[in-house]
Parts: sequence; C-alpha cells; structure tokens
Amino acid sequence: SAKAAGSNQWAFFKQQMTERAAVRLRTEASLHDALKNNEFLLYFQPKLDLQTGKITGCEALIRWQKDGRLISPMSFIPVAEETGIIIPIGRWVIEQSCRVLREWQKKYNYAIPIAINVASQQFADASLVSDIKQMALRYQIQPELLEIEITETSLMNDIELAINKLEQLKSAGFGIAVDDFGTGYSSLSYLRHLPITTMKIDRCFVSDLPGDSAIASTILMLGKQLNLTIVAEGIENELQLDWLKSNECQIGQGFYFSQPLPQADFEALYMASQTATISNLDGLRGT
Ligand code: C2E
Ligand code: MG
Ligand code: MG
Ligand code: MG
Repeated sequence: SAKAAGSNQWAFFKQQMTERAAVRLRTEASLHDALKNNEFLLYFQPKLDLQTGKITGCEALIRWQKDGRLISPMSFIPVAEETGIIIPIGRWVIEQSCRVLREWQKKYNYAIPIAINVASQQFADASLVSDIKQMALRYQIQPELLEIEITETSLMNDIELAINKLEQLKSAGFGIAVDDFGTGYSSLSYLRHLPITTMKIDRCFVSDLPGDSAIASTILMLGKQLNLTIVAEGIENELQLDWLKSNECQIGQGFYFSQPLPQADFEALYMASQTATISNLDGLRGT
C-alpha cells in the first residue's frame, strides 16, 4: 500500500540520516585527534606581481596529513564547519601563519605577506578579532603582513556585523581580501562600505579567459573604481596571463606559476624569484 511504501521510504531516509550523522561524528572525532596529534600543515601558494614576475606574497592553504596521505581541505573543511571544530582549526591556522611570518622575519629578514582563509562560521565567532590581534602580538609580527581572506557569502550573511569586524581588523592594520569574488551574492552598494583592501577574482572567471572576459573585466573595473588590489586566482596558462596583464590586473596566483608548496619549497622558490623574471620562472616551477 501507499502507506507501507511511505513508511519504508521513511525508514530508508532515517537510516541514511543516521549514517550521515555517524560519518560526521567519526570525522569530527578524527579532526579532534588531528589537532591533538599535530596532523595539519600549511602549504603556501605564491602570489606574483604580474608586471614584474616577482613573488609578492602567498596564500596559506591547509592540508591534513593522515596515514601518510595528504587530505584536501575540500573534504574536511565543510565537516569542520558543520561541527564547529573549524574554530580551533582556524585558530591553529592563525597561530601557524604568525609563527611562519616570525620565522621568515628572523631567519631571512623577509617580509612576505601571508593570506589566510577564514571560514564563515569562524568569521561569525565573537573572539575572531581578538584571537588574530593576540596572535600577532605574541609572535611580534607586523599586522600588514597578515591578510584575512573572507568569502563574499560570509560577508553578506550579516553586513552590519561584517562591517564592524572588518573595521576593527583594518584599523589594527591587517589586510582584508574578499575571496572567490563573483560567485556569491554581493550587494554592490554595500561593497563600497566594506573596509576591504583586495578582491580575488574567482578561478572560474579566470578559466573563461581570454574568450569570455565580461566578468573579469567588470571586476577589474570595479576594483579600480573602489581603489582595491585585484588578485586573479587559478591562472593556468599564458593566454590567461597575457589577458590579465594587458587588462591591468596587478597580482595573480595559479598552477601556471606554482602549485601550493611545502614551506621549504616555497622559500626556495621565493629566493629564486627575487632574481628571476616571469619568463624564466618557468624553469623554477617544479611540480
Ligand atoms: P581558496 O581559498 O579559493 O583557495 C584556492 C584554491 O584553488 C586552492 O585549493 C588552490 O590549490 C587552488 N588553486 C590555485 N591555483 C589553481 C589553479 O591554477 N588551478 C586550479 N584548478 N586550482 C588552483 P585548496 O588548497 O584545495 O583549497 C580549497 C579551498 O579550501 C580554499 O579555496 C578555501 O576555501 C579552503 N581552505 C583552504 N585552506 C583553508 C584554511 O586554512 N581555512 C579555511 N577555513 N579554509 C581553507
Ligand atoms: Mg583563499
Ligand atoms: Mg578563492
Ligand atoms: Mg574557493
């Protein structure tokens, strides 16, 4: 009967929910262990000045080293967000980045800015601003060297709150970038009021270049009007690079230059790039 079928469906649905919950619980437990056992690490992807070809900074991207394998953030950040464990993981990312900034400062006298990703839920957390300030103080790093990347969607969740938090971060000197720009639902009229310093053109619009350049052009124009630095994400070939250069995009990152690298490899590439140009960086790209 229809009733029996319905109740079968319900039982199936319930079983699936239970399984999903179990997977989530298991993953949450192993993320806790991962924090405790120091299984996270940061990779660094260079950001280049497109005109000079020099490395001007990097983005820190988290990896989970589990049983000898590297796990991508795409497969654990969403669960970390669902369960709330993103808060301590995010704190670890902030602390680790400050530690690396301090190390570069002491070891090489380098001042290479690091951009870190802050998840929606972490951005909404009441202690985010004080966490970042405290960490910068503890490791004695210049706030200008730490840039916070926040997605458009997190900012638009609660615009008043976002403006307030960003003001605090900006007045403390930290850089602020809107990540994956163009994929969310920004209200353009609010964008003017957000104290941001950088907009990152999402990879999907860069991959459309040079053929379909409407969105990239629009973002570049907007950035110019609002006096923001524009970073193009996901540059994979020379045609994309040429288009971006001739359309005055200042900064870029992508596999064409380099994958995200372990710290030591990034340091080596950085040093090489200080004497290289964009044309011979080719040979330094490695993997
Ligand atoms: P995102 O912040 O937009 O980071 C850029 C992603 O694009 C990185 O993936 C990077 O490896 C990848 N990418 C860079 N250049 C290219 C390219 O030329 N082609 C292609 N196909 N991909 C490219 P990854 O490292 O897997 O990170 C994925 C996302 O996970 C990040 O996107 C970010 O949203 C999140 N994530 C990474 N690390 C953290 C973290 O420490 N905290 C939080 N909350 N999220 C993080
Ligand atoms: Mg990012
Ligand atoms: Mg992005
Ligand atoms: Mg992204």
